[in-house]
Amino acid sequence: MTTPYKYLFGPVPSRRLGGSLGIDVTPFKTCSFDCIFCQCGCTTRLAVERGELVPLAEVCAEVERWLKEDGAADVITFAGSGEPTLYSRLGELIDFIKARTDIPVIVLSNGTLLYRPDVRRDLLDADSVKISLSAWDETSFQKINRPAPGLSFEQILEGEREFRAEFEGSIWLEVFLMEGVNSDFDQVQKIAAAAAEIRPDKIHLNTAVRPPAEADVLPVAKEKLETLCGVFTPRAEVIASFSAGAGPATELSAEKVIDLIRRHPATAAQLAQSFGTVLTEILPLLDDPRVQIEVRGGETYYKCR
Ligand code: SF4
Repeated sequence: MTTPYKYLFGPVPSRRLGGSLGIDVTPFKTCSFDCIFCQCGCTTRLAVERGELVPLAEVCAEVERWLKEDGAADVITFAGSGEPTLYSRLGELIDFIKARTDIPVIVLSNGTLLYRPDVRRDLLDADSVKISLSAWDETSFQKINRPAPGLSFEQILEGEREFRAEFEGSIWLEVFLMEGVNSDFDQVQKIAAAAAEIRPDKIHLNTAVRPPAEADVLPVAKEKLETLCGVFTPRAEVIASFSAGAGPATELSAEKVIDLIRRHPATAAQLAQSFGTVLTEILPLLDDPRVQIEVRGGETYYKCR
């Protein structure tokens, strides 16, 4: 039997990236934010200090093994259960991957540490960096992102502007909108004004399509999101549901399913697509005492904590 990976997961059918091999370099759940909408649940370690949170040598060994034994994905994505720029060896790890494969490397970050020159330097060799912006001032920032002490809205915006000036790859800005929190037209206009200062290549509008950290966070209707796209420059795109055929077929096992839903709650249909199989193959694997169920918007999501 193949040894399961500790730091790699997927490939997962990402709504914007296609088949994405995930690399998780933060122990669950270490982040500089505790966003009310987080699909990984509440932050258990709120931090801004960087460190070698997982051994670099072990992650590199897993990447080597995956490239040798599989190596099929559209992108390699730093994602998972926390903020990847808290990993102090991130730049070395990106360089290690870039020296071994042409698969694009993407970092999904909340952008909080971009005020630090070492963090900006670590990201320079990535192909794309996704940062997020869902607030328009200090009050909304504290309410929505619940940041670690010492982080401020202005400091983060300034770091993101500096990163834009230095980074030659593409920057995607994700705006997470919630009904009754930050989706009124005037609020979105203010978010769009801040977003324009960062000059991202793309802007994505997201909403609570998966179970969020706080159960009372409500999604914004797709039609309203589409209307709000035109408020942004460049025009935003709504992140659609999983696109058909996005996920490459992946060997199926209970451990792989558990590994995936530990990081991202998913419906049985999403899991079937991720593993390139059918519902009847997935459902028995979800009958596991470690698997929990959450019903959201009439859909059943499976998760593991
Ligand atoms: S959504 Fe991202 S930035 Fe916010 S708490 Fe979750 S992992 Fe951290």
